[in-house]
Formats: sequence, structure tokens, C-alpha cells
Amino acid sequence: SSSDDEGEDYLFKIVIIGDSAVGKSNLLSRYARNEFNLHSKATIGVEFQTQTLEIDGKEVKAQIWDTAGQERFRAVTSAYYRGAFGALVVYDISRRSTFDSIPRWLDELKTHSDTAVAKMLVGNKCDLQNIRDVSVEEGKSLAESEGLFFMETSALDSTNVKKAFDVVIREIYNNVS
Ligand code: GDP
Ligand code: MG
Repeated sequence: SSSDDEGEDYLFKIVIIGDSAVGKSNLLSRYARNEFNLHSKATIGVEFQTQTLEIDGKEVKAQIWDTAGQERFRAVTSAYYRGAFGALVVYDISRRSTFDSIPRWLDELKTHSDTAVAKMLVGNKCDLQNIRDVSVEEGKSLAESEGLFFMETSALDSTNVKKAFDVVIREIYNNVS
């Protein structure tokens, strides 16, 4: 803003990646609009949503990008990753194949990013305990070995969704401020 001393604004691009149907779009809609869709099809329309946080009296804007379903064809483009300072790398705790894909997503992120990226490994759908296919320990251990933050979330019941995004945004802020 023009009239005060606290007007130093930050804008951070954050990308959400991971296999199809792990819940990427619902994580974003839960975070940005507190909405969940049980029958969500491939994302239509919106490329990103913006959330504003206040950190240390500064206005911090997170521009959070969602794929438009192109991950189904392993066709996420370099434009999607360009300029990203943070990433949520998502698998579904009830589907092991999506966890097995994580190293490939991390490779792709590394290939396409020009800066250090704050990364959160996200095990989504933790409400599905009864059909869990990946243990918490496995998630933690992969995160540790790759130097990522880790959280299990549920876009359905809201568990840790805000926390996961906020940790990434704060980490980026700490890196650049
Ligand atoms: P995307 O392809 O990664 O964007 O996944 P979507 O957000 O479209 O979600 C795919 C499916 O998983 C949809 O049917 C969602 O309703 C469902 N889903 C997403 N998040 C959760 C969650 O946390 N728990 C449960 N039980 N289902 C979820
Ligand atoms: Mg989607």
C-alpha cells in the first residue's frame, strides 16, 4: 500500500502436484473456499487461487496453482512449474501406486524449477483409515530422506489442510525475508 510502512507485499507461487485423483483440487478448494466436492471431475477453468496471509505485519499473497487434469497424461508443462517457490506433493494414503509416484514428481519438480522450492509431502485422504495402504511411518521416512515437510491431510474433513499450506507459505517467507 502507499501510505504506511507495512506495505511491503510478497507474492509467492505455489504448485500442487501428484497423481490424478489424489485430491489436489479438493485440497485447494478446501483451503481457499472451504469447499469440498465428492464427485469432482478434472479441474475446469481456474488456473490458480490466491490466498492472503499476514506474517510479521506484512501482506503475503500465495498464488496456488492446480493442474487442469493434465497429470493423467504425464503432461504437466514447464510453464506450470515456472517461478514456483513452494510445492505440495500429494499422494492418496489409500492408494499405494500414488505414493510410489512421488519420486517421479520430485524429479519433475527439480527439473523444472529455477530456485529452491519449499516442499510439503502430503498424504491426503487420512479420513480413509479403514482402507489405508500407506503407513504414516512410510510417509515420514520418505519426507525425511528427501528433505520435505510432511503432513497427512483430509480435504473431506479438513484435517491439516490449512496447516499444510500455511507451513509452506511461512517457510517461503522465512527463506526470502
Ligand atoms: P485431483 O485429481 O488430484 O485434483 O483429485 P480431486 O480433488 O478431483 O479428488 C478426486 C476424488 O477424491 C474426488 O472424488 C474427491 O471427492 C475425492 N477426495 C479428495 N480429497 C479427499 C479426501 O481427503 N478424503 C476422501 N475420502 N476423498 C477425497
Ligand atoms: Mg484436479
